[in-house]
Amino acid sequence: MDMISLTVLLGLLGAAIGSFLGATVWRLRARQLSADRLAGQTYSKQEYRQLQSISRGMFGISDRSHCLHCGRILAWYDLLPIMSWASTRGKCRYCHKSIGWLEPIIEIGTALFFMMSLWLWPFGYGSGGLIALFAVWLVIGIGLIVLFAYDAKWLLLPDTIMIPVIILSALFAGGVVITQGGVFDLGWLGSLLGSVAILSGIYWLLWVISRGAWIGFGDVKLGLALGLILGEWQLAFIALFVANLVGCIIILPGLLTGRLSRRTRVPFGPLLMIGMLTALWWGNDILAYFIGIST
Ligand SMILES: [Zn+2]
Repeated sequence: MDMISLTVLLGLLGAAIGSFLGATVWRLRARQLSADRLAGQTYSKQEYRQLQSISRGMFGISDRSHCLHCGRILAWYDLLPIMSWASTRGKCRYCHKSIGWLEPIIEIGTALFFMMSLWLWPFGYGSGGLIALFAVWLVIGIGLIVLFAYDAKWLLLPDTIMIPVIILSALFAGGVVITQGGVFDLGWLGSLLGSVAILSGIYWLLWVISRGAWIGFGDVKLGLALGLILGEWQLAFIALFVANLVGCIIILPGLLTGRLSRRTRVPFGPLLMIGMLTALWWGNDILAYFIGIST
């Protein structure tokens, strides 16, 4: 199969999976609110009531997606990626309330992620091991997309998704070393530890110093996963730099115009993920550029 057909195939697969992920994010939220309620923590009662209808069965086959407003069970034609959303201009077909932007953004985002992953994959497809590694990468990406959306919306990185992502990222790091044939040259280990120290250790220190006020422990765990994925301290450094740069570009105008206050909490997760993708996909080009201008 040629690259163009593969790109189209992965794009369609990504949109279909993205449609499922959109519903998954809401179900995760519903479960979180139920858990908060049982634990006696403060939670939004209105949000809890609204999400009650979808709080059962995250992966159950009989489970069907519901409208968050009127609770109607959605038909198959309401669940088509992007097309359903566009055909009703983002409104529920039954009660005409706005569905919001989350679903189409996740569907388009997952499709783009799958297609770009194919083209920008840095390790090649020369062996069965490398193709398996690419498949693991796509699964990690699916987890990261859920975490991205959840953190952007509710400033939290749920463990239900985070723990599997960390385990897969450790497998991925091992897979990279084995397929690159560097197991017996222990230099990779130092670079991997450096990568984890840069992306997780720094956040851990900030978390300890501020006693969890500046950042959440979820960012420390996410940094661990992203550090394992990148596996090289130079790439981790680029990821951290890009995350901070993008953060400043987004936050500064808000601070200057007074739309954001100093107390506004910033979701670091999505910023770190953008940094990691930049480093994985273009990091070596960026490094080559800077080495080029310094010699
Ligand atoms: Zn409705």
